[in-house]
Amino acid sequence: MRDPRYDILFEPLEIGPVTAKNRFFQVPHCNGMGHAMPLAHAAMREVKAEGGWAVVSTEECEIHPSGDLTPYVEARLWDDRDIPALALMCDKVHAYGALAALELTHNGPTASNLYSREVLIAPSAQPTKYGYPHQARAMTLHDIRAYRRWHREAAIRGKRAGMDIIYVYAAHDLSLPMHFLQRRRNQRSDAYGGSLENRVRLLREVIEDTKDAVGDTCAVALRFATEEGLGPGGVELAEARDIVGMLAELPDLWDVNLAAWYNDSVPSRFAAEGAQERFIDFVKKTTTKPVVGVGRFTSPDTMVSQLRRGVLDLIGCARPSIADPFLPRKIEEGRVDDIRECIGCNICVSGDMTISPIRCTQNPTMGEEWRKGWHPERIAPTRMPARVLVVGAGPAGLEAARALGQRGYDVSLAEARKEPGGRVTRESRLPGLAEWARVRDWRVGQIRKLANVAVYLDSALTAQDVLDFGAEHVVIATGCHWRRDGYGRSHGFTIAGFADNARIYTPDDLMDGRLPEGRVVVFDDDGFYHASVAAELLRMHGREVIHLTPEDSLAPWTLNTLDYRHMRKRMTELGIEALVSHDVLGYVDTALTIEDVWTHRQRELACDAVVTVTARLPDDGLYQELCRREAEWTEAGIRTLRCIGDAEAPGLIAHAIYAGHRYARDLEEPVADNVPFRRHFHTAG
Ligand code: ADP
Ligand code: SF4
Repeated sequence: MRDPRYDILFEPLEIGPVTAKNRFFQVPHCNGMGHAMPLAHAAMREVKAEGGWAVVSTEECEIHPSGDLTPYVEARLWDDRDIPALALMCDKVHAYGALAALELTHNGPTASNLYSREVLIAPSAQPTKYGYPHQARAMTLHDIRAYRRWHREAAIRGKRAGMDIIYVYAAHDLSLPMHFLQRRRNQRSDAYGGSLENRVRLLREVIEDTKDAVGDTCAVALRFATEEGLGPGGVELAEARDIVGMLAELPDLWDVNLAAWYNDSVPSRFAAEGAQERFIDFVKKTTTKPVVGVGRFTSPDTMVSQLRRGVLDLIGCARPSIADPFLPRKIEEGRVDDIRECIGCNICVSGDMTISPIRCTQNPTMGEEWRKGWHPERIAPTRMPARVLVVGAGPAGLEAARALGQRGYDVSLAEARKEPGGRVTRESRLPGLAEWARVRDWRVGQIRKLANVAVYLDSALTAQDVLDFGAEHVVIATGCHWRRDGYGRSHGFTIAGFADNARIYTPDDLMDGRLPEGRVVVFDDDGFYHASVAAELLRMHGREVIHLTPEDSLAPWTLNTLDYRHMRKRMTELGIEALVSHDVLGYVDTALTIEDVWTHRQRELACDAVVTVTARLPDDGLYQELCRREAEWTEAGIRTLRCIGDAEAPGLIAHAIYAGHRYARDLEEPVADNVPFRRHFHTAG
């Protein structure tokens, strides 16, 4: 069964008064469901426990209305009436022998209080973190005592809900004990400000309070950021070493990471597995208490190395547990090949950022556990085996074929190219996106294990081929391509001089290896990653690059995936010029007419080529042709025809995977035609 090399990962570990059954620790992560959707939240955490995680944590949990995070939807323990929602999670998690952990927080000046309308509180008077047009007031000593009481009461409520581990949170620049540590947020001259000892005082007191309140049966964990990357105004490694030294034996568990969130959950484009090690490896040398840390760990060998080299005692995972809730069990059962590795795209993070239930590129069941009853490992077998033809082996087609195969259908997957993966294969060759190939690799690996799925590469199918094939169900997943004509969000019509212009390139050209020469403008009317990746590729090939967008900031949607700051930094380091708030009006010879979107002042910009990144067109010609020939279906034996993924409507890789999975789940199943999922209703006062 299990490879003995990995035995160390399955050794139990005492954490204060509780024992983790193994070393897999799902650290706190947001999910966009939180207090608003407790049933959905509990079901999502349950799947993690079933998948073998020894510890399953909540997300941030607000302890008081003065730390209200609206519009973000996190956990909540404001009073006793919030207990049942979290008890739901604890019961589910305990049923699988896992420990439940609760991350208590009061966000001080990083809260919003948009819902509670309380005045924000902070160590010293200061603006809010997220740009709300109101400020936080300085906490009095009375406020500090009240805060300590709220935290203590919330810890007791957590214990009553069934939590086994209660966190004191001093990380991500998102909680008062951390804000008191930061010189930029704490200018107090009393016993809670000034010297390091004074700035640590509140953190120490809250840990002591929590131990006193619940420490008899609950472990008290400290989540602590060792570096913010902001210089002396922030928590710095040198000071963090002193703080860990001062508090070394106080908590039962150290959970250490980097702040803020964008430095913690760095996209794979900007950080590899285990990237936090050099910032946290001192902690285990400073304390005898267990240490957990994160690093987008998906390789059991890397995990073992972390334990053997004395970096960590527990392998902390947020994203890897989202992409594969069954990661621990797969290692335990000797099925390492079956691990669905996180690709580090941070679409999961975008759920929290956009205040919507979490979704995952790799795991289409994430967020659907309760409302659709989807399970990451199980799927209902087909009621009646039938032949299904899937056309196109991009993410949509691969996932459809894999999940249909798992259901027991007789599946044929035809792909025009000589290699599978569609856009994933192509995009993963672009700078920084190599790990995205895991979307393809996991599915190809799973399909290989299914005798009832046949893959035909180098097989471009025509409508006649499909009719001749004789499948009962046909699903078209033929993808899309980038437009060349400039049509997009900013242009409802084509841009003059774009059509049939050899100086116009699209991301498809770049992925096909056709790179323009000279000075290139990358015109970004898309707003996500495509344009900056194209700019980076061109710069790496020595081109002079201008990244131009009608938006007021470069690639604004990358804020939702925590790419933004890293992308901006890299663009600057590479010498890529940014030109925001400018639109493109026309292109003649080497003269690009651009316009300031606010003044409408026009000017000409000389460039040898333009890479236009505006919108995509579905490659649905095959689907349309088959629709036109519907009269021939019966004779061909075709009962249903569907078009999915980018061929239906271009989107994220996550959308394509979801579309493929949903197609497979729904095939020949009764599906509600109005609301196809369960919802929470709030009708009680
Ligand atoms: P999605 O994101 O929806 O999965 P992709 O563009 O990644 O879409 O993948 C679509 C795949 O379909 C590509 O690999 C493409 O080569 C393939 N394809 C397109 N047309 C045909 C066709 N007529 N026959 C077989 N494969 C096709
Ligand atoms: Fe990983 Fe992307 Fe899934 Fe997040 S959405 S868990 S980063 S694969």
